[in-house]
Amino acid sequence: MVNSISIIGAGIMGRGIAYTAAISGYTVTLQDISVASLQSAQQEIEKMASQSREKGFISTQQQQAVAQIHYTPSIEQAATNAELVIEAVVERIEIKTAIFKQLDVLCSPETILATNTSSLSPTEIGCQTTRPTKVLAMHFFNPVHKMKLIEIIRGLDTSDETVDIIKQVATQMQKESVEVNEFPGFVTSRMNALIGNEAVNMLMEGVASAEDIDKAIKLGLNHPMGPLEMGDLVGLDTRLRTLEYLNKTLGEKYRPSPLLVKYVKAGRLGKKTGKGFYDYKECEQHANT
Ligand code: NAD
Repeated sequence: MVNSISIIGAGIMGRGIAYTAAISGYTVTLQDISVASLQSAQQEIEKMASQSREKGFISTQQQQAVAQIHYTPSIEQAATNAELVIEAVVERIEIKTAIFKQLDVLCSPETILATNTSSLSPTEIGCQTTRPTKVLAMHFFNPVHKMKLIEIIRGLDTSDETVDIIKQVATQMQKESVEVNEFPGFVTSRMNALIGNEAVNMLMEGVASAEDIDKAIKLGLNHPMGPLEMGDLVGLDTRLRTLEYLNKTLGEKYRPSPLLVKYVKAGRLGKKTGKGFYDYKECEQHANT
């Protein structure tokens, strides 16, 4: 039974997981090496709780639970007393494996260690620890509080007991779960990265404007979001890293579009930097006027 959850990484996903865990009744600690990231996470999480409370989506008690989230730059603090740790740092295997090695030393032997990776191998991550039976991928979707799915990916040695506990956590967070055998990109990232990359290639080739590519896919194919809007939401750096990994592991079909590479080089990472395929600073200015 899990009562306390620590999340490592307070970026787009870490803050969403922390908020969702808190409103679902867990004791939550959110850790990041960047104090600036922790501060902006706290502001965003508390703003979201207040707006959700005003709209009646969460209760006063849930808002109070969100206010109890503990924010810390110390991985030692995050590891202590957590029954489940969910890692949500940048999509780089060397950073994730280093964190899991540290967590393995710092956490109780009973603690389950999950990664929110979009594509990487929970087996490779788990074998850095002395507890591969208690390591798996728990893949949330963005925005975490709204998206209904958690993809549960078993590493080679993940035990049935660990999978069962994570399914219970998913249910307590009011999510549906699917169980996936480890393969690069799982089900969702593999599909999504391919569609998103094709859209960027179309934009590069001048097939249509970003707005019209997204409009065509939404209205013609009944996707709730356009692939370029989705890329901006995910973060183009994260999308590029996923494609690079899929290209390396699954082949040519996943080669990142040169335009995506160029945008990332320019620091146009999507919503989180204010500009990607769309300009969010302009939108914000308009919204504020
Ligand atoms: P992000 O760039 O928004 O945030 C990453 C955070 O990790 C930053 O705050 C950074 O300071 C922190 N960080 C970096 N190194 C760290 C370390 N050693 N210790 C602690 N914190 C550290 O990234 P994100 O979009 O939240 O993605 C995080 C993970 O979730 C990635 O593995 C990504 O593939 C996955 N994911 C992302 C999405 C999405 O839509 N963005 C969806 C599902 C899964």
